[in-house]
Amino acid sequence: MGQESFSAQKRTGGIALPTTTTNASSAPNGRRFGAALPRGRQIQKTFNNIKITILCGFVTILVLRGTIGVGSLGGADNDAANREIIEETNRILAEIRSDGDPNDPDDLAESEINPNATYTLGPKIAHWDQERRNWLDSNPEFPNFVNGKPRILLVTGSPPKPCDNPIGDHYLLKAIKNKIDYCRLHGIEIVYNIAHLDKELAGYWAKLPLIRRLMLSHPEVEWIWWMDSDALFTDMVFEIPLKKYDSYNLVVHGYPDLMFEQKSWIALNTGSFLFRNCQWSLDLLDAWAPMGPKGPIREEAGRILTANLKGRPAFEADDQSALIYLLLSQKDQWMGKGFLENSYYLHGYWAGLVDRYEEMIEKYHPGLGDERWPFVTHFVGCKPCGSYGDYPVERCLSSMERAFNFADNQVLQLYGFRHRGLLSPKIKRIRNETVNPLEFVDKFDIRRHPVHESRESQS
Ligand code: UDP
Ligand code: MN
Repeated sequence: MGQESFSAQKRTGGIALPTTTTNASSAPNGRRFGAALPRGRQIQKTFNNIKITILCGFVTILVLRGTIGVGSLGGADNDAANREIIEETNRILAEIRSDGDPNDPDDLAESEINPNATYTLGPKIAHWDQERRNWLDSNPEFPNFVNGKPRILLVTGSPPKPCDNPIGDHYLLKAIKNKIDYCRLHGIEIVYNIAHLDKELAGYWAKLPLIRRLMLSHPEVEWIWWMDSDALFTDMVFEIPLKKYDSYNLVVHGYPDLMFEQKSWIALNTGSFLFRNCQWSLDLLDAWAPMGPKGPIREEAGRILTANLKGRPAFEADDQSALIYLLLSQKDQWMGKGFLENSYYLHGYWAGLVDRYEEMIEKYHPGLGDERWPFVTHFVGCKPCGSYGDYPVERCLSSMERAFNFADNQVLQLYGFRHRGLLSPKIKRIRNETVNPLEFVDKFDIRRHPVHESRESQS
């Protein structure tokens, strides 16, 4: 059997095979050929035909196996391969999650913090405003204002290790996608950090050394905007009214009466806040950090915070309570340049918002940023990446899914799509493709319709 008939079989999927067999044993042909050949040669030929038939049968089985797939014939092999992948994945996860690296000599050399010395974020910087000014003057290609708008850097991040539950990583992905969308639409730069720049300030305290480092490494940035990983933009049109903060250096969502009358531990929220890149902000970070070092310092500081702040449960010092305590205890020093914002949701507590999205869609439109269409929805206490949240995990996840899709619809709308429902990852087309695409670019481009216009058109 030559190459040619083999390829023919492949092309016909082996259907030619019985014909070959039939031909070889067919009475008219066989008999005719047989009659013409001597008996020895005939036996030889029959034997050859049988060999060819067996060979072709074997090839057919091979081809069928290739067409149907190995899976149905090699289940055991497949299971073994899958098991191997799962075991290897678990091994790598365990390695990443384990704290020490036996091959890293620095791991052992890390010095313990001295509880008697006040913790610092780094060498004291004293003349940042002047140094930054000089740098800006000699680097005109990196201006801190572009087209009259201050340059903003949005900073967010999550722990260095994989989440306890893989669904947590999925929501981290959705949350960063949401932030990338907002930043792209509004010309804001973005940093995602997963390192602990300072081992002492792990967890929610990690933002402090990070903000400081970014201020010093990016003198061209005017405002650093921290946003938690569990906070989502839910108004993709609204823009922060930065002009309002011309004479302030810190903007944080909060309520003056909760702060100064009630001394409440939720008077402000550090899930979303802005710092101007200046000496004042470096000084505030220096004053804020000393309660942060993990271990006995953070534990002891937690007791002081719980004793002084209304409603605070007993737990280690957290960055939010520490900032409230600092602003309360040194009000005169800091509050002159600190702005407690509550005219829109720079941070919006998720529980009162996520069930109202349908009502908002019915009555209002993006660009308002307040309770009518919240700028930011923050999933305080949900801990989607950790194991222990303050709320049932199903409620958190379905609420995050709703918030994500509510926001994503505002992005997809620009491209002619929307989600099938607020809980559905599937999307559907909302307008047909057109031969005049620029019509829609002009109509939907968020950059051309800043919030102030939509607010005016509302009233
Ligand atoms: N975070 C971080 N690195 C860490 C742990 C936390 O950057 O190792 C950030 C993350 O963005 C997280 C934020 O710190 O969203 C604050 O923590 P969380 O949101 O869990 O606190 P909550 O808002 O629930 O009080
Ligand atoms: Mn948070």
